[in-house]
Amino acid sequence: MCITEIGKVSLYQSDVLSKFSNIVHGFTTRKGGVSTGEYESMSLSHFRGDDIARVKENEKILCESLGLDIKKLSSTKQEHTSNIEIVDKTNIGIGVHYDWDRGVDACITMEKNVPLLCFSADCVPILMYAEDIGAVAAVHAGWRGTDGKIAQKTAQKLIELGADEKNIYAAIGPCIGQCCYEVSEDVAEKFDKKYSVSKGNGKYMLDLAKVNFDLIAQVGVKEENISVSGICTKCNNGLFFSHRAQNGKSGTLGGIICIIEKG
Ligand SMILES: [Zn+2]
Repeated sequence: MCITEIGKVSLYQSDVLSKFSNIVHGFTTRKGGVSTGEYESMSLSHFRGDDIARVKENEKILCESLGLDIKKLSSTKQEHTSNIEIVDKTNIGIGVHYDWDRGVDACITMEKNVPLLCFSADCVPILMYAEDIGAVAAVHAGWRGTDGKIAQKTAQKLIELGADEKNIYAAIGPCIGQCCYEVSEDVAEKFDKKYSVSKGNGKYMLDLAKVNFDLIAQVGVKEENISVSGICTKCNNGLFFSHRAQNGKSGTLGGIICIIEKG
């Protein structure tokens, strides 16, 4: 497992995105924050019951460690929708410093030095970069968002904004693996049979990361430009928050991405 320590935080980073010197990105681990108990320690959601003052301190630690501007940190507002919204000059800071008025499970920005953050604790976090138009995206896909094809719709939105699909790069971060993601038949049957293995008792083991990989590839993003962490959050609960491993009481990991323009 390739975890990099940057400043006070430890991150999983994708080789696909790391090759761009103007992109800062990473998927956080539990390390480096100030939250305690089940939220120990780098918990980033405002909506999971953690003390907000500690979450705000964690946001600050994360941004300082990565050299990003906390004032411009903007995020999703996750409600298992397939809504995609643009962060532009009119709403920088939304999600973090003030609230969206609706569910937004994927954000895109073409602004430089505006970090985008999405959240997960078993769900699939995805970061994207469209090199030719200078746009980044942060996406949250649980099974509902995956069923709603939010990752594919986000890639399509980048294409609508002018990106060539060959210039889109995507990193699928740590999430619950097929080893641990048991679902009922009604969830499994929303996806092609090839994505799940029956346990024989009406339960199935579903590979959500693979579904999302294929959804992104289906719009023409090259397979070699899509990375999958292969890290299971539940198997590695010491390092990653896991909703299932912690019986629904966990902190929240972050996927963060920013286009850097110096000067
Ligand atoms: Zn696992």
